[in-house]
Amino acid sequence: MNEYDSNRIADIAKKKKYVRTDDSRNIDCYVLNTCHIREKATEKVYHDIGRLKKNYKNKKKPIVLVTGCVAQAENEEMLKREPYIDAVVGPQAYHELPAILSKLKNSRKKINLTDFDVIKKFDKLNTIKNSDSNISSFITIQEGCDKFCNFCVVPYTRGAEHSRSAKEIINEAKNLISNGVKEITLLGQNVNAYNYSDSKGKIKLSDLIFELQDLKDLKRIRYTTSHPKDMTSDLIECHRKVKKLMPFLHLPVQSGSDKILKSMNRKHTREKYLSIIQNLVKARPDITFSSDFIVGYPGETEEDFKDTLSLVKEVNFVNSFSFIYNSRPGTPASYLEEIDKEIQKRRLITLQNLLEEIQIKENKKKVGILKEVLIENKMKNPKNYFGRIDNLTPVIISNANEKDIGKIVYVRIQNYNRNTLFGVKEKLESGVAA
Ligand code: SF4
Repeated sequence: MNEYDSNRIADIAKKKKYVRTDDSRNIDCYVLNTCHIREKATEKVYHDIGRLKKNYKNKKKPIVLVTGCVAQAENEEMLKREPYIDAVVGPQAYHELPAILSKLKNSRKKINLTDFDVIKKFDKLNTIKNSDSNISSFITIQEGCDKFCNFCVVPYTRGAEHSRSAKEIINEAKNLISNGVKEITLLGQNVNAYNYSDSKGKIKLSDLIFELQDLKDLKRIRYTTSHPKDMTSDLIECHRKVKKLMPFLHLPVQSGSDKILKSMNRKHTREKYLSIIQNLVKARPDITFSSDFIVGYPGETEEDFKDTLSLVKEVNFVNSFSFIYNSRPGTPASYLEEIDKEIQKRRLITLQNLLEEIQIKENKKKVGILKEVLIENKMKNPKNYFGRIDNLTPVIISNANEKDIGKIVYVRIQNYNRNTLFGVKEKLESGVAA
């Protein structure tokens, strides 16, 4: 979502004639779009600003904005601690950027904009064209979270769940497709909680996906990140009926132990999670999964951890994100007694080894097989092209050409490593690839 937000920030800043640059040596404005989900995020902001300060010691100071969830969480504190920062702008207020830039041009009075007005933000964003023209692009359809998992800061930094107008989402999709986009990933902190009401009635994520599949030049649809609690039967049915919806789902589980899931306030059990997986497999037999895991949560015993390992084996996740639990100040979990750091580290290594083993095994199975690959771009080595198969695994293709960018081609997989497949394009009639 931060990647999407950063692109939108760049689009909005264009209104004030700012153009995006990757060269930070000679800039007028520096925007640091931050994420608060991981430990030390705040310190990283100060280090980054420190480096900028050094580089601009003998030059005109650029306008410095900190946007995103760290700005939201730290707000006034950040302005006090680092006077080099001109404004802190929360994730629901970055549509105010043109006004902020105008104010800061005339006066260097500090600005703190950390309101939770997501409705205003979505309204404003709808008026600014999304200029993304990558083959694969994102659309934010929902923000915020009402789930309040005991370890998580998102409900405090992004606010309550709010869904964007379906009409505006479809308009943005059409605009992206006219820019050349072929794959759209619908985004939200709880994307499958999407629920928008207009004069025609309630619109859910499944309705949106059905509508998107009719857009002719759109080849692939994805959505992330989902909560098991909102994996409703209509959405599962979508996986059966919509061919453009990729047979891959990132469905965070966090732990395989019911005791830990309860302590996390996850609102699902191991059994419920597994029954969702089974129903999805029934609906779309070729579907594969990835997940998020927190290892060493307060109170996690060896038995609880083994439950996580057995769940991983049962679902056979093709890739996943796993982290050692780290306490986020102010969350309910931060008041619980933490377990030994060495035990946490050992468990993380065990889990990651298992996940890696599965990932390598799954990639190895693809050798010799034909896969449909959406080619996204040329690589640094101009002989190679980059694309992805249905489950997002990257593929490097050695015999594609410029004309293949944006097309789904058939690739015979010849080799693999943990994260990547390697193959050659083959000419074939549609519908025969695995
Ligand atoms: S559902 Fe996700 S975003 Fe919401 S509180 Fe839980 S972990 Fe955080």
